Amino acid sequence: MATSLYEEAIAGLNQLLREKSGLGDIAAGKIKKLTAELEEQGSSKSDAVERIHSGFIHFKTQKFLKNRDLYDPLAKGQSPKFLVFACSDSRVCPSHILDFQPGEAFVVRNIANMVPPFDQKRHSGVGAAIEYAVVNLKVENILVIGHSCCGGIKGLMSIEDDAAPANTDFIENWVKICAPAKNMIKQELKDKSLDFQCTECEKEAVNVSLGNLLSYPFVREAVVKKSLAIRGAHYDFVHGNFELWELDFKTSPPVVLS
Ligand SMILES: [Zn+2]
Repeated sequence: MATSLYEEAIAGLNQLLREKSGLGDIAAGKIKKLTAELEEQGSSKSDAVERIHSGFIHFKTQKFLKNRDLYDPLAKGQSPKFLVFACSDSRVCPSHILDFQPGEAFVVRNIANMVPPFDQKRHSGVGAAIEYAVVNLKVENILVIGHSCCGGIKGLMSIEDDAAPANTDFIENWVKICAPAKNMIKQELKDKSLDFQCTECEKEAVNVSLGNLLSYPFVREAVVKKSLAIRGAHYDFVHGNFELWELDFKTSPPVVLS
């Protein structure tokens, strides 16, 4: 229950006690007990609720109320230029690392920032987001951002046998979207350490996702018309670097932004 609702409930019960002086002892006792319980619950509000509350108050007072030029037009609609795929990892929020402002980027986050191939029966949540961003919002850029120390990619690289039954309900089947990247890395870099292989796979998996984007007819059409550009990236939060490359990794070497 939100703080204000607790306070309202407690105030209501206290008022009832004051106004209904004819309440029997039992009823009055029950109301006093309920009031005390509510007060106790209210005072033991979890740290999480406190954090959410203080975070929103900070946002509202320092940003929302101070930047009306930014927020007023957004109340009427959005016209983002970017569709961004990023990992759900708590360290790689694209709005944070690329300083996207509200309204600039339509964002899909999932385990290991993967784009599954076009399939109306599976992963339709991702398909719906791509369709809405490209067809309705007409974004001009799609950016898929991989990152250092990605647990999802490490999970993919650690699957011993692709044909073996999964040990997890969702994770293994999901990360296998980028199995072609794993297979390539395991073959080409078989003498390297697992850490090195994982870093390379974080980048190669982005390339698989870029290729998968082209399996969506509306994406392909927009790319051919040159109204949509597709890029891959890798954010290294250990060294604070950001690599950016075009759709065809082989013909366009990455640019390191540091
Ligand atoms: Zn990740």
